[in-house]
Amino acid sequence: MPFTLPQLSRREFLRRAALAGAVAAASPSAYAGLFGKSRDKHTVVFFSDPHIAADPRTVFRDVNMADNLSAVVKELLAWPDKPEAVIVNGDLAKTVGLAGDYATFGKLFEPVRALAPVHLTVGNHDERAHFWRAFPQDAKKLKSVPEKQVAVFPTARAHWFLLDSLDITNSTPGLLGTAQLEWLDRELTKHSAKPAIIVAHHSPDVTGMMGLKDTADLEELFLKHRQVKAFIFGHTHVWSVARQENGIHLINLPPTGYVFEKGRPSGWVRFTLTEEGMDVELRSLDPQYPDHGQVKKLRWRSA
Ligand SMILES: [Zn+2]
Repeated sequence: MPFTLPQLSRREFLRRAALAGAVAAASPSAYAGLFGKSRDKHTVVFFSDPHIAADPRTVFRDVNMADNLSAVVKELLAWPDKPEAVIVNGDLAKTVGLAGDYATFGKLFEPVRALAPVHLTVGNHDERAHFWRAFPQDAKKLKSVPEKQVAVFPTARAHWFLLDSLDITNSTPGLLGTAQLEWLDRELTKHSAKPAIIVAHHSPDVTGMMGLKDTADLEELFLKHRQVKAFIFGHTHVWSVARQENGIHLINLPPTGYVFEKGRPSGWVRFTLTEEGMDVELRSLDPQYPDHGQVKKLRWRSA
């Protein structure tokens, strides 16, 4: 994959919710609003680094991660329209990717399944075997790169390439590896007509100490394939939008979970493709954060 979970039909969603006891007390009308919304086909929503533990009461660095995830899910559900897709960009699990972490994540995230297809990537705090087993009803495993989860999906104005940078669970740096880089090179050659947006959990890092160990190899592909316009990643838990000299936009997603440094935002991000670039909007859980609700207008480099 990355694990691609199709959008659930109204009937299937309500069946699962009833099985889970989630709507036992609520009438189906409580969910009715989810199904009637129109879709913005240019918007893709990102969550990153939820770090969910099996026990939803778990608190780390003064943050209850399950509460934070529930809060951002609620905000997305309350949005007036539905996105084209939702991506959760790695570190779904608290620390080492326990089966129970994914079970709790799946429950908290289930309402989003009524809105849009969901794509999940893995981070350094995930464990692939547990991750793959966590969503058996939806598992459709792509085998284009052995033991890695890769995918490409189109929207009206871009191709989105989802990479797998997990090297060793609970070890900080990440690695794409030769086979995956070759896959990306081939796929970029095949899909050159639209702007390409690359997504991975790990941050670019030329030292390779904390981020992506093969940053230089990835950047070579950015140079070779001019349709690559942006790289979206998480991992550092630090929200930022920057532009490289080569014209590539670097978007570092905020965590939905905890931050390492007080004063940084937790939250989610809305990306809306325009004809010449992309609008990026931070939705901070703390609405007082200065960037909250501000739309940054990115323009693509020339082809
Ligand atoms: Zn993380």
